[in-house]
Amino acid sequence: MEDCIFCKIINREIKSEIVYEDEFCVAFNDINPRKRVHILIVPKKHIPRVSDISDDDELLMGHLIKIAKELAVKNSSEHYQLVFNVGKEAGQIIFHVHLHLMGN
Ligand code: AMP
Ligand code: ZN
Repeated sequence: MEDCIFCKIINREIKSEIVYEDEFCVAFNDINPRKRVHILIVPKKHIPRVSDISDDDELLMGHLIKIAKELAVKNSSEHYQLVFNVGKEAGQIIFHVHLHLMGN
């Protein structure tokens, strides 16, 4: 997607601190961290909101949670939040699905 900042990060058109990547997703440090660990886990597929996912995305969405769990372990975070903001009024500012991993 043109003009999508997270697609640009995935395509390396914009720099970010990528901490994990596989066939399905990329994870990078949030530019404005709210916790010691604040990583965004982002599917490579451009889906604007969680409310836009389809039946085909079921495994992909589970995969994001699995990777978040592994990154929490890697960063020695035992207690953390996993958050999807869905829609503007819920605080979503980037319209490419992303899972926030936030922990101390
Ligand atoms: P949300 O409010 O759920 O849409 O979250 C978007 C998140 O993306 C915010 O926590 C921002 O700090 C973060 N963010 C925005 N631009 C960048 C960027 N270029 N690199 C890393 N994180 C970003
Ligand atoms: Zn995108």
